Parts: sequence; structure tokens; C-alpha cells
Amino acid sequence: MADSPDMFGDPPHEEENTPSAAELEAAGQVSLFGDPAPVAPAAPAPQVEEAVQEAVPPQVVEAPAPPAPKASPAVPAPTVQPYRVLARKYRSQTFSELIGQDAMVQTLANAIRRDRLAHAFLMTGVRGVGKTSTARLIAKALNCIGPDGQGGPTIDPCGVCEPCRAIAEGRHIDVIEMDAASNRGIDTVRELTEAVRYATVSARYKIYIIDEVHMMTKEAFNALLKTLEEPPAHVKFLLATTEVNMMPVTVLSRCQRFDLKRIPAPLLASHFAMICGKEGVEAEDEALAMVAAAAEGSVRDGLSILDQAISHADLVGSEDGKTRVSAEQVRQMLGLADKTMQRRLLEAVLSGKGDVVLAQVAQQYALGIEPIAMMRAQMDVIHRVTVTQIGGVGPDVRSTEEREALEAWAKALTAGQLHRLWQLLLKGYEEVKTAPDPLVAAQMALLRVMHAADMPDPGGLVKKLEELASRPAIAASAGEGSGAGGPVAQSAAPVAAGADWEALVEQVEHVSPLVGSTMRLGVRVVELRQGLLRYQLVPGLPGDPVADIRRALNTVTGDVWTVEPGEGEAQPSLEEAKAAKAAAADAAMKQDPLVKAALEAFPGAVIVDESSSREHEKRPWSKRA
Ligand SMILES: [Zn+2]
Repeated sequence: MADSPDMFGDPPHEEENTPSAAELEAAGQVSLFGDPAPVAPAAPAPQVEEAVQEAVPPQVVEAPAPPAPKASPAVPAPTVQPYRVLARKYRSQTFSELIGQDAMVQTLANAIRRDRLAHAFLMTGVRGVGKTSTARLIAKALNCIGPDGQGGPTIDPCGVCEPCRAIAEGRHIDVIEMDAASNRGIDTVRELTEAVRYATVSARYKIYIIDEVHMMTKEAFNALLKTLEEPPAHVKFLLATTEVNMMPVTVLSRCQRFDLKRIPAPLLASHFAMICGKEGVEAEDEALAMVAAAAEGSVRDGLSILDQAISHADLVGSEDGKTRVSAEQVRQMLGLADKTMQRRLLEAVLSGKGDVVLAQVAQQYALGIEPIAMMRAQMDVIHRVTVTQIGGVGPDVRSTEEREALEAWAKALTAGQLHRLWQLLLKGYEEVKTAPDPLVAAQMALLRVMHAADMPDPGGLVKKLEELASRPAIAASAGEGSGAGGPVAQSAAPVAAGADWEALVEQVEHVSPLVGSTMRLGVRVVELRQGLLRYQLVPGLPGDPVADIRRALNTVTGDVWTVEPGEGEAQPSLEEAKAAKAAAADAAMKQDPLVKAALEAFPGAVIVDESSSREHEKRPWSKRA
């Protein structure tokens, strides 16, 4: 508490020296209408001034700190409210202040003008986009009576009449705000439906604002349904939820629905710039852009970050006493990677220099950048390059350095590579998020990306192969490669008898599989005629199958056969012939320009015959390297 006045009671904030809850709540109105806030109680003012004087040299604040415990906890501290978080101070007080929701405001304005307002509204959207603010604004719009007390419902609530003020301060008796997260049961709804029947106390409409309405129980929803169906004319329901898919359809169908959009980062940045201006804080454009990006579309989250950034800047201080929010501070505060560093890291990854990648990671880590932020930053760069490839560098890229880098990458990388990089980084990001040691996970993930980055994607591979195949050099080197076929000469002009032999073997296999397979594997035919077989055996075959073969041939042909070993040139056995044929096909395939190119591109790759290789059956393709 003691250092709060030091931080926020600085001279530049003249008008904030005497703030009260009411005054600050009305801050938006004041800035709009130039009204001096009338409700400021006089009491807190001198205390704040004392505090400021005491605190002028910042060190003095340190000194009085020890005596603090002496003072009982009940002392003035609570009465001094020098600061109010930006998100509450700058809650939109008019629809025109509500940024990024133009479509909704237009629809509402039309409905109010034509007096065709639904009796139940549902506001959906991520946290901090302005759902509750919108609900309060609608409440004001409906209940405003204008500065003269004569006005009707309006899209421009005056902000100064009693209903407007009371609603802004959350104390209007007919505007009931509920949080379904804490009051989700049926009892709450019963009370509500009971109360709905009574007329308003002072306002035109009795308005129920139910936040996080999806949290209500099923019974509570059912109980609410009847009232939602036919509420009394003086009642409006304004429901807000972040999880619209958890809402029962029966409720959805009874509400007019407004989907509040995430607010685009540039719009957020300019909004924050406006607020900094009002707060007398100087902020670098890049700093605000980073805050806006970190806000992810939520005004409230963005303002919380901005709050922190301003506190940081205040702590650092400056010679002339002005608060300056620099990009460097915000970067440090958010643990963001510097854009130059991001690019250097990606460069290292893409150039395949593992040692540089690790050095870059170490350097960023030493600067306090979280591993998860490194991964996020790399993804961001890849995303930017991809977008650049499609539509040129975006307007938010300010530095020429960054522009040039993005353009160069957009040219050098294919769309397929970019998507592959994205997938790999996304996977790495998930791993870093869950890994016990995020730094190690980030190193591994980035190295994996590095190794995979120079591997072409399937589309790129085909392209590359076609390219290589069309190169004349390959055609010239054709012609070697054959000759290493089977153990027997595979010139294998199949002897006329060949077909007969195979037919015979098939017949034998039918009757006696064992003998048949011996014949297929091990018998090289020297001479084959009806009733005569001269043969040689494939070396290494155990035993002599001559008797078996003779018997089998006698059986299948009904003739008496002479079977004997023979001299001279022999045909390869059926199995050897098959192997030779396969080898020849293989050699022929290797002569195919496309395959030759593939082997050249991947030295050491082995062509796998999928039909005969069981270990690869499960995969549609495979590559051994
Ligand atoms: Zn009003």
C-alpha cells in the first residue's frame, strides 16, 4: 500500500489525485461530457497529497516501511484509493466506446429505434471482449431518461441521469446482475422467477444480467425456460456466456443472440494508445502492438497487461518523471522473443546448423524468454512467411529488416515446406507445453524441425525427382548395373521345354507337395522329353531325390520315366529362374530415369518390394536409408 501513491500519484496525473470510486466509475462519462465529478468526497484528498509529498524521492518510501507494522491494520490505507485498474476504469460507458463490435451495435440501434427489442439477449464471445459491458450498456440504453429526465430508450444513453449512473456503478435496484458460476442452482432461478412478477421499483425495465449462464444446472435452465418464454413486458434478460455450445437449444432459441467478436490486434493497439494518452503515459507503438497481440482479442486481458507494463515502467522511472512504456520492457515482461532473435533462430533451423540452433536457444533462454514463447515465436514467423507468400507482407510489418526477411523466405520456401514446418513446430509446441523440462523439449523439437526441414515434402519430392530425371546426365550413365543377377546365367532364353517342365512340376506339387517343391527349388533341367528327365541338382541340396521324382512323374503322367543326372548345360531351377527374373526387373527398374533420380537424391536408399516384404505390409510406402 505504501508505495502505491509513489507509483500513481505522480504529478502528471493531476486529475487522478483525488479519485473516488464513484468518480472513477464515471471516468468515461467525465471524459465525454467534461463534467467535474461532483461526488468526490473531500476527505481522501489531503491524505493522498501527504503521501505524494512523502514519497517524492522514491528512496524515502523504503525508509518509513519498517514502522508500518506498528500502525494497526485498520489505519487510513483503505480510505486511499489512488488507483483503479484500467480494465474497470475504462469500461465502455457508451456504445461508441465499445470497440470492435460495430455490427452488434448497429443491430441494437435499429431494434431500439423501431422499438422491436427482444425480451432476452444472449451475448457470446471469449472472455474480456465486452459481454458484461454490453449488457450494462443495453440496461442503460433501455432505462436512460436523459439529462432532463424526459428521454426514452436510446442507443446513446446519456450517462448522467440517475439510472445511467446507478447502472454504471452497479447499484441500480432494477438491474440485477447475477453470476451463474456461483449461483447455478434451481433455488436462485426460483427466486428470480418469483421476483420477475413484481413491477419495477423506479426504472422502465427490470433487467436481469446473468453472466456465465452456461454454468446453470439443467434444472435451473428448465425453471428459467418458462419465464424466458413469456416474461412480463417490463422484464428483459441479458445472458452472457463464453461457452455457447454448452447452452441448451431451448434457451438459445428464445434469445436474440449477439456473437461478440475478438477484437483485432491493431484496433486493440490503437485503443490502448488512446488510454495511454489519457493516463499521461508514453508508450512505444511496438510495445502497444505486443500488448495487443498478447491480449488475443480481449480488451480486458489487454488492459491488465497494459496495467502491468505501466507499473513496470513506473518502477524503472525516467529522468523527467514521465512514464514510458518501451517495447523492450514489454518484451521482457511478457517473456517475448525479440523479432530479430526469432528470425536468427529460424535462419539457423533452416540452414541446418545444429550448433547455432542450440546457441540461439541458450541465448534466448538466458534473456528470460520462456521455451514455450520461443516455439510460439517460430510458429509466428512461419505463419507470417506463409501469409506473405500469399498476399505480400502485411501492413503491420514496420521494419524493413523484417519485411525483407519475410519476403526472402516466402520466395525460398515452398508452400508445402511451410505447412510442414508449421506442423512440426505445432507438435513441438505441444511437447514443450507438457514436458517436464521445457528447455530440453524446445531444443529437441527445434533440432527435429531442423533435420526435417531439408527433407522435401512428398509433393516437393516428386517435383525434385522429375527435375533430376529430366537431366541428361542420368541417361548417359545408364547401361551399367545389369550382370549381377542370379547364380546362373540369366540370359535365360526359356527353352521350349521350360513351359512343360513348369506344368509338370505343378502337377507333381498337386499330388506330392514335398517332391514338387524339391523339383521347383533344386532341379536344373538338362534334358526333358516325354518319359526322360536328365537333370542337375542345385548344390547343397540334401540327399538325392531321384527316386521320389521318378515315382511322382510316373504317377502324374501315367508313363514310365527315366530320371537321371545329366552332364552339360542346365537350365536354372524354376525358383532360380524366378529370382533371376526379379533381379532383371529390379535392374530394369533401376534404369528407369525416375528411380535413378530417386536413388541419386537419396544415396543409400534401398528399393523395397512391398509385395514380398512382410515387415512393411502395414505401411503404404517405406524408405530405408
Ligand atoms: Zn441516462
